[in-house]
Amino acid sequence: MFDAQNVASEFPALQQQINQQRLVYLDSAATTQKPKCVISAISQYYERQNANVHRGSHSLTAEATSQFEAARHTVATFIGAASPKEVIWTRGATEALNLIAQTYARNTLKPGDEILVGEMEHHANIVPWQIVAEQTGAIVTKIPMTNNCRLDMASFEQLINSRTKIVAIAHITNVTGTRQPIEEIIQKAHQAGAVVVVDGAQGIVHEQLNMSVLDADFYVFSGHKLYAPAGIGVLFGKLDLLESMPPWHGGGKMVEKVSFSGTTFTQVPGKFEAGTPNVAGAIALAEAIDWYSQFDHCSVEQHIHHLVELAYESLKTIDDVKILGYQKGASVLSFILEGVHHQDVATLLDQQGIAVRAGNHCAHPLMDALGVKGTIRASFAVYNTQDDVERLVAAVEKAADML
Ligand code: PMP
Repeated sequence: MFDAQNVASEFPALQQQINQQRLVYLDSAATTQKPKCVISAISQYYERQNANVHRGSHSLTAEATSQFEAARHTVATFIGAASPKEVIWTRGATEALNLIAQTYARNTLKPGDEILVGEMEHHANIVPWQIVAEQTGAIVTKIPMTNNCRLDMASFEQLINSRTKIVAIAHITNVTGTRQPIEEIIQKAHQAGAVVVVDGAQGIVHEQLNMSVLDADFYVFSGHKLYAPAGIGVLFGKLDLLESMPPWHGGGKMVEKVSFSGTTFTQVPGKFEAGTPNVAGAIALAEAIDWYSQFDHCSVEQHIHHLVELAYESLKTIDDVKILGYQKGASVLSFILEGVHHQDVATLLDQQGIAVRAGNHCAHPLMDALGVKGTIRASFAVYNTQDDVERLVAAVEKAADML
């Protein structure tokens, strides 16, 4: 049995009481809590190495640069990238998607070209494509979902054609936890000559990645959903694509030579990393990856799937609870209490010390397809226990009685 209780003891935030009860944190799909070692990595950096990287000539800057680049190496190994040069630091998944849209897409799309985007996507994987479509005359086309919240692969196969230049899809969706068949999507998109952008914001923590095998052209994620701090994220891109792309932000560190008659840019990855980067964030992300890698991936996932299944089996028996798009093997559970506003349910749960997310989860098109304004989402991570599930179920029962 996976010892989640022991894991939870490494998380200072999980030791607190909320409304006089032990905090039950079921909002890890929004952001995970951070283990002590990750928090310490940040303070140690500021206590010892704090310096700017790739410039200056003193010992602190040399040490900071070496740790910063070692962190890039850790990420590259974790995701199976062919080279650390394929790892670009960003502020998070959102910034990485905007970078791809404003460099790769803006530079290659022509009027009438198509970008296929899943109906269940987070706004971060919809809006950047709409912006670049507006700029280039390209068209954003939705890949619809089926009634049970899976990507409609038959529609995808009908939609993809020689005008399709980009397919943008989440590895795992954030509202229902649907794992998309990205291997098949990548294969079919490549056959049609399109590149595939995978939004790995949820996938990074629940899937074992090997970019060389997966063959995704781009894969993006945020550190804060992987037990690391907010403000650091990653754009993985195939090296030849990254090298062909123009820079996005201009400034220090991304240049080779600047003059008023013209500027030349440095090589990948520096070309995409203008300005002072989040050095502490990168180092803390590497610490989080090292920490998380101590666990057997399958044991953690089995543990999480078991908890979600327990929650599903109990919640579905409560009158007026409707579970939306439940998938066996998911790490999240979205539901509504018929006739009650999702925010009221979440507030009642919070009063009982239970943190869940209520709202549209930055997925308006999915909410429209489901015919709801919002859902309550319980999302699970490595530190959740069976007791957390029992507390959730009891609290929802109480909410259903009261509301
Ligand atoms: N995509 C998905 C599927 C997400 O869940 C999120 C975060 N909710 C994002 C993109 C955006 O991530 P961030 O806000 O960290 O950039």
